[in-house]
Amino acid sequence: MKIGKFLAVVLAFAKAGNARRFPLPPSNLSNPDRGWCATPEPDESYFIGIKDVQAIEARDARVAGKLVPRSSFFPTLRWTWTIYTFVHVVESKVNEGLVTDAAIRWQIKVLNDTYNPYQFKFYLVKVQHYVDDKLSMGPFSSDAEYFDDFLRKTRTGQYSELNIYIYSNYPEDEFGMCTMPNTEPLIWAMPEQIYDDGCHINAGSMPGGWIEGYNMGYTAVHEVGHWLGLMHTFQGHNCDGPGDMVADTPAQRLPTKGCPKDGVKDTCPGKEGYDAIHNFMDYSNDPCYRNFTYLQAVRMHNMYGMYRSKSVSVHKDVRKLFPDEEMEKNDGWKTSAVT
Ligand SMILES: [Zn+2]
Repeated sequence: MKIGKFLAVVLAFAKAGNARRFPLPPSNLSNPDRGWCATPEPDESYFIGIKDVQAIEARDARVAGKLVPRSSFFPTLRWTWTIYTFVHVVESKVNEGLVTDAAIRWQIKVLNDTYNPYQFKFYLVKVQHYVDDKLSMGPFSSDAEYFDDFLRKTRTGQYSELNIYIYSNYPEDEFGMCTMPNTEPLIWAMPEQIYDDGCHINAGSMPGGWIEGYNMGYTAVHEVGHWLGLMHTFQGHNCDGPGDMVADTPAQRLPTKGCPKDGVKDTCPGKEGYDAIHNFMDYSNDPCYRNFTYLQAVRMHNMYGMYRSKSVSVHKDVRKLFPDEEMEKNDGWKTSAVT
């Protein structure tokens, strides 16, 4: 670990050591820079998978005779996916109790308020608390094996189900990361392959958290966007490359910092459209975040439908909440009709 990084971790530890509790008073939103999103670059299988999804979207466009594709294979945006969500709170000894149930409920509400218009619902099934100094730094723990073992023991549910891990001592310059959908055939049926599937969030980014300017809970919204298959709007840092492979997000070379005062930023002046500074998949601050595009929503539906939704929930807590009859009424599983 570099000295700078080490200091950041120590500072994060010291800072979180004040045992702040949620909710905190609204911040002055002065921090100009979003911390890093450590979601890994998509791998080759992702690009192969996304081509399959794009083929479906293009075929639907031809069938419909419209420029804007609507999936017929997965009737995009005509139903709502319900995503059963398991939250794991990992705190250091000194920070035990930092993340309250109220803060977790508030975070889930932010996810729902944001994603409901795009026809996704997050249903909080269970919250688990762990106290462990080493694990409280999350994936940045110095003991990778120990951390992996923790995930193996704690990740809950199927590939269709979301596990959000929240850490009290995440490095302060890192905000979060998620795994993108793995598009290999039948991956969802291989528990040993999906033990590390999920999202990891800095507790300070939760609504009312201590990271000024980034404490409205939108880090989780951004990260879940990755979990549902979206890339950054500035993917590739290039005006001419494939970018995020979504047709209605403008070319963007650089991430946005804070929120440009006049509301305009254009890092690809030769290309149509300004940078999507209000898009959840940019790096703007929380008050600047506003929307996904229509085709990002289509992409999330298709990625979830194609690569995650095949795994029917068998988790006892989900089954308790939604008995068989309910699940069947609910269009089989996972979906509820939009009326
Ligand atoms: Zn990201």
